[in-house]
Amino acid sequence: MDKKNPFLTIDRQIVGDGHTSTEALDNLIVLCDDFGSRFGGTEGERLAAEYLQARMKEYGLHDVHLEPVEYIGWKRGEVKLQVVSPVEKTIPCITLPHSPPADLEGTIIDLGDGAPEDFDERADEIKGKIVMTTSVVAPKGSRRWIHRGEKYGRSLLAGATAFIFVNHYPGYGPVTGGVGHDGEGLIPGIGLSEENGAYLQRLLKSHGEVRIRLTSTDHSEPMTSWNILGDLPGAEKPQEIVMLGSHYDGHDISQGAEDPASGVVSVLEAARLLSTYAPDLPCTVRFAFWGVEEIGLLGSTAYVEQHAAELPHIRFYLNMDAAGGKTNTRDIVLNEWANLQSLFEQWAEEMAHPFAVAQSVSAFSDHFPFFMAGVPTGGMESAERSLTGRGYGHTQYDTVDKVEIGCLREASVLAARLALRIASQEPWPASQREEATVLELLDSPDYREESEFRERLNTFYRAARQGTD
Ligand SMILES: [Zn+2]
Repeated sequence: MDKKNPFLTIDRQIVGDGHTSTEALDNLIVLCDDFGSRFGGTEGERLAAEYLQARMKEYGLHDVHLEPVEYIGWKRGEVKLQVVSPVEKTIPCITLPHSPPADLEGTIIDLGDGAPEDFDERADEIKGKIVMTTSVVAPKGSRRWIHRGEKYGRSLLAGATAFIFVNHYPGYGPVTGGVGHDGEGLIPGIGLSEENGAYLQRLLKSHGEVRIRLTSTDHSEPMTSWNILGDLPGAEKPQEIVMLGSHYDGHDISQGAEDPASGVVSVLEAARLLSTYAPDLPCTVRFAFWGVEEIGLLGSTAYVEQHAAELPHIRFYLNMDAAGGKTNTRDIVLNEWANLQSLFEQWAEEMAHPFAVAQSVSAFSDHFPFFMAGVPTGGMESAERSLTGRGYGHTQYDTVDKVEIGCLREASVLAARLALRIASQEPWPASQREEATVLELLDSPDYREESEFRERLNTFYRAARQGTD
């Protein structure tokens, strides 16, 4: 018996069961094949919420319930993109979620991969035009991920009339992703395949000017989504909470199998394993499935707002968005919690399960509202964030056949073993940060450019909305 691992007996039960069960993959197939994208406002979203709730009850969780999330949702309509000159041609495209209805004509400006400095330097040229950029995430060798929302937002700030987002992967079709800001975006946004984007680029190069006409009938309206929650109540300190979570909505053009379903079923499987082999941990373990992440982290944001009194008692929130995907490795990225680094490293050794422990924070998944509220957070994801892009993610090809059962097992078992340790550790070395500390952190060189942009965009929307009220 290895004396260095105090949880060896439970670890063996969790690992043994997790690696001989097909439960996680079975659940993934139901979520994706039976319910489809689970996009906000679809029948599949409602069925998925009911299914997850039923599974949590069946696995023995307590206080399983849905919490409604009211939000401004989006319904895809018809879209038509016509090249008007120098040739006449209709090109297939999709509108991006929260794109407002469109009826406009204009000329295209090609901003290449959409480096932030290009938007500033070419602002005069952009004004009144339709910006086209690719989905390349690290333009001009950027060390940070330049998100679609930033390219769209910088186009808007520079006075563009519409936004064209071109997939940088050939053969994957058009790429999607939300462009809203607490509801509808202010200019239309569309996604194109790599091939159709390259066609427009060639036309622009050969003829100097390309004029297009864009019409669409999308609309935004009030909707209700649900966060789904369930607990393993703590035996000694029930008010202290460890949370594991993932959003369950995918994009409407996709099955959302890797992003997010591989994370959803891994959280669910961790719940089953802990409920079976470690039902009486000292602290509460809470399992959360967030609604409508893809169009603005809406479910997790609502939770953080509605549960403010509980936040100081959350020991750790582990985000598992797409955690069981084949394109990630299962490391732990702590969101700038240096005081937790050695503890997680020590656990990797104790568990005889090597994973890397990194420190960084991005604004693009459900850990972020918790991070902004000062809660200790991290994600199960690759330690080195890929700067190549999402692969099949956010395309019609993020399908069940891309998911491997081994990755789901690895994610579920690791999550269960970590939750076991976080809920048992005494004393717990991290606590809620003050707002000023969070802001100071985001003002450091690694994050300053992005947080400044976010503030500029917030101010722009506030002014624009006051103007129309
Ligand atoms: Zn996701």
